[in-house]
Formats: sequence, C-alpha cells, structure tokens
Amino acid sequence: MVERANDSVDVAANLAAVDSRIAAAAASANRSVDEVSLVAVTKVHGPERIRPAIKAGHRVFGENRVQEAEEKWPALRAHGDGIRLHLIGPLQSNKVKAAIETFDVIETVDRAKLARRIAAISEEVGRRPEIFIQVNTGAEPQKAGVLPEDTDDLVTLCRDELGLSVLGLMCIPPVDEEPSMHFSLLAKIAARNGLSSLSMGMSGDYDIAVQFGATHVRVGSAIFGERPKPAETT
Ligand SMILES: *Cc1c(COP(=O)(O)O)cnc(C)c1O
Repeated sequence: MVERANDSVDVAANLAAVDSRIAAAAASANRSVDEVSLVAVTKVHGPERIRPAIKAGHRVFGENRVQEAEEKWPALRAHGDGIRLHLIGPLQSNKVKAAIETFDVIETVDRAKLARRIAAISEEVGRRPEIFIQVNTGAEPQKAGVLPEDTDDLVTLCRDELGLSVLGLMCIPPVDEEPSMHFSLLAKIAARNGLSSLSMGMSGDYDIAVQFGATHVRVGSAIFGERPKPAETT
C-alpha cells in the first residue's frame, strides 16, 4: 500500500516540535517567540500531507513554484481561514500575474525589472503582495538574489520609488558554509535599510537563524518529511 507512506509522517507532532524549538531558540536569544513566524514549506507534497497542518491550526505556508501552488492551493485554502502563502522560489517575469493572484507574500524579488513588473501588475489586478528582497549573501553565481552591495539600491527602488510593501530581506546561505555569517550579514543589510523582517533558516539551521534575528523561518522536511523527487519541468 503506497498510501501508507503518507501516514508515517505525523505532521501535527512535527509542527509542535518545530514550534517548541523555535520557542527555545527565541528564549535563548532573549527574543519573544511572537516575533518569529514559521513558514511551513509544502513544495512537492500533496494535499493529503498538507491538510493535517491546516487542521492543526497552522496558517503560513511556502511554495517554490508558481504553477504548483496555483494547482494545489485554491482547494487547500478552503480548509482554513486566514491562510497566508509565501512564494520562496525564483519568479520569472511571465509568471508575475499568476504569482500575485496566488501568493500573499513574494520572498524572492531580486532585480529591478521584476520589481517594476510586480508594481505594474499589482496595480492592474488590484492585489498587492508583501515582498521580501532575496539577497545572494554568498555571491554564488548560480544562485538567485541581488548581491549584497546592490541591495540598498534595490530596496530604495522597491520601497521609495515603486511603493511596494517591502517587509524585509531573505537569504539562502551556501550549503557548504557556516550559515551564521550569512544570517548576520543579512541582518546587517536589513538594519541599515530600516527593514524589520528577516526570512532565513531552514530545517537544518532554523534555530541558529532565530538566534541571529530571523522573523520568518522556512521549514519543510522537518515538518512534512522527506520530499519525493520533483519531476523536472523547467
Ligand atoms: C525547500 C526550501 C526550504 C525548506 O527546506 P527544508 O530543508 O526542507 O526545510 C526553505 N527555503 C527555500 C527557499 C526552499 O526552496
């Protein structure tokens, strides 16, 4: 029975465990746990794995592909009031309209052209997402994100010129480096721009991220279990 695999993950228990680790990390950093929002990352997982999280009262979720979210979330949203969906994967210009219609928060704004398009289409459809600016803190050539030295200009463009609702900054540290130096760099860039939100930390390091000031941690596998390999679509 293939379906058995789904039952072997206790999503509600995992959520509770992640919540309490966040609480412990916040306490040890003298922060209030209310400052930290858990973005439960549901990419690749089907509705039967996600519904228990909604049923347990969780409301903030993350997906990394626009099309996948468009297919899954309209039906899932009916299972709970006040669901907030974050886009945490790269956004192509031709998907901006669909992204604005599907997501409440876009965490991956990383270039002027994309920012301008979000501003224009928000106006057109009358729905304004909140945004994070993704920073490529490790300056990795293959990775999305604005370079640290170009971030101030992009923040100014988004916030002051385009009037976007910029919550803060987001980063995905290089896999083979100490994440804490990336978390502290992101916090420093946010502080000098007067931004209060920091989306950083995943299953392997979210407690460290909370100690370094994360206001949003993006946690997938620690809640929903190992992800099945996605089909290569793009
Ligand atoms: C998949 C993903 C996560 C969650 O990763 P886990 O290691 O499963 O917690 C967080 N952030 C981004 C951008 C992701 O794509």
